[in-house]
Amino acid sequence: MNSNKNQEGKTIVLRGVPASPGIAIGPVFRKETKDLEIRPRTVTDAESEVKRFIQAIEKTKRDVEQTRQSARKKLGEEEARIFDAHLMLLEDIIVIEETTKHILKEKKNADFIILEMMNRIVDSMREQEGGYLNQRVADIQDVSQRIIRNLRKEKRFWFEEIQAPTIVVAPDLTPSEAIHLSPEKVLGFATDLGGRTSHYAILARSLGVPLVVGLGKIWGQVETGDTLIVNGNSGKVILRPTREQLEEYRLKRKRYLQFEESLLNLKDLPARTLDGHQVILSANIELAAEVDIMKKHGAQGIGLFRTEYLYLRENRFPSEEEQYQEYRGVAEAIYPDPVIFRTFDLGGDKMSADLDHHKEMNPFLGYRAIRACLDQPDLFKPQLRAILRASSRRNVKVMFPFISGLEELRAAKGVLEGVKSELLEEGVSIDRELEVGIMVETPSAVVMADLLATEVDFFSIGTNDLTQFTLAVDRGNERVSHLYNALHPAVLSMIKGTVDAGKKAGIWVGMCGEMAGDPLAVLILLGLGLQEFSVSPMVLPEVKKIIRSITHKESRQIAEESLKMHTTDELQGYIEGVMKRKFADLPIWFK
Ligand code: PEP
Ligand code: MG
Repeated sequence: MNSNKNQEGKTIVLRGVPASPGIAIGPVFRKETKDLEIRPRTVTDAESEVKRFIQAIEKTKRDVEQTRQSARKKLGEEEARIFDAHLMLLEDIIVIEETTKHILKEKKNADFIILEMMNRIVDSMREQEGGYLNQRVADIQDVSQRIIRNLRKEKRFWFEEIQAPTIVVAPDLTPSEAIHLSPEKVLGFATDLGGRTSHYAILARSLGVPLVVGLGKIWGQVETGDTLIVNGNSGKVILRPTREQLEEYRLKRKRYLQFEESLLNLKDLPARTLDGHQVILSANIELAAEVDIMKKHGAQGIGLFRTEYLYLRENRFPSEEEQYQEYRGVAEAIYPDPVIFRTFDLGGDKMSADLDHHKEMNPFLGYRAIRACLDQPDLFKPQLRAILRASSRRNVKVMFPFISGLEELRAAKGVLEGVKSELLEEGVSIDRELEVGIMVETPSAVVMADLLATEVDFFSIGTNDLTQFTLAVDRGNERVSHLYNALHPAVLSMIKGTVDAGKKAGIWVGMCGEMAGDPLAVLILLGLGLQEFSVSPMVLPEVKKIIRSITHKESRQIAEESLKMHTTDELQGYIEGVMKRKFADLPIWFK
């Protein structure tokens, strides 16, 4: 065998942005993005085509019934009823008779006939106005898609076709897709687009699945079944590796896993420096299901619970009761450690494909987060009620995202106060002194930090957004990802300003942006006086190891030196030198 080629084709080495650590080796599953076209086809045996159609209707009925049952289990009878409309459609004799008649008369394939017919019904309904009719249109489209998929024996979603553990290769992913990709089936991800702080990247880290993003053009070059190596530590991806490369990476993977294993011994030890300075090391999570992983990695509570994932998971807003159950469950599971619920931070790249009606030129600067919540009290109030109801054991805090000034903070606190009084009047037990904090993730919040600090209980610095706004670099755009670096002197100065403002006002300052879990940044942040590091559970033990290996005094010196650097390169070079000297065995060096 040629050492540069395997049997199937040419070996290709690509470099992207390492977005979730670990090394994956396995077969590719290529995401198909386009729906197959439905063309008319003449059928010789129209009777059997009708039979095929009836079988597809029966199968669709069984599918919908199953979905209804699982919806009832998860969400309750009321929500499950939406599927009754789908079942009624599937039992609609007129629709079935009409379709049958057309198949027999036109001698065309059933999928084409059903599509035409549903389109006709939808068109005639669209001519009439009304929200109810819109809902009917959506129901009809959903059901006809299901029937067609069953006729073609297609699965409901592309990711449901994944059977064996594979590496998913896609142009890009949405957070709601990523949420459905379970670690049992997905060994790793590789995408053309995206950046380290794209939300599916954050999710991949939470799931512990290696990911490289921003590869530019891997998707067009792979076939399902190709062998792929994804090095989430370095950003290197090897398509159709040689035998030597496979051996090399299997070894690297083994060493990496051994290192990870050894870190778990630190689980029950505090995040304390050699000279006794202790900080809080908590976890960022998106779903209640991650509580076990975070506990296993030794987190002291949850520094950021991204509540918007409740919405992204179901593609609809959960009711107050559903939210209450979720929040209370999490608060109970980690008691007495605290959990910080961040109110819905939808918008930006966190929009479900289904609900993303308004295309915006600059969604990250648009209708998102606290802006959308203040504009829609129907969403905001039930969420605040649910959080407050879950706070009775006093280990719950609330945090507002994307605050850009005092007006927004005061408005959000005003809604919270209103909801609090309502609950107290209703006699509901809540934490009357519930701590209220904000994400500091806009440059204006940093500039106003002195004032903001006097009206909140804590700050949590969101470097993912703060970096993109300070440097004017889109966090999800691979074409500028080389410019996106939180280790920029301007970002560092923003962080220092925020920490100092917090200290002056006597409130605690943490960080839940990805920078807090970046091994290169930890010592600088510690030295700047950060009191809480909220990080993805997978990197938590590594961060703890770093903190436990140094004195606070030394970290202060490192921070001081870092603040003297004039460029990102200088800063990066300096801190890499320090880290290489002190921590030769960290996974970041497993390139
Ligand atoms: C941040 O911006 O740093 C942050 C933690 O929030 P998100 O990544 O959810 O925007
Ligand atoms: Mg943010």
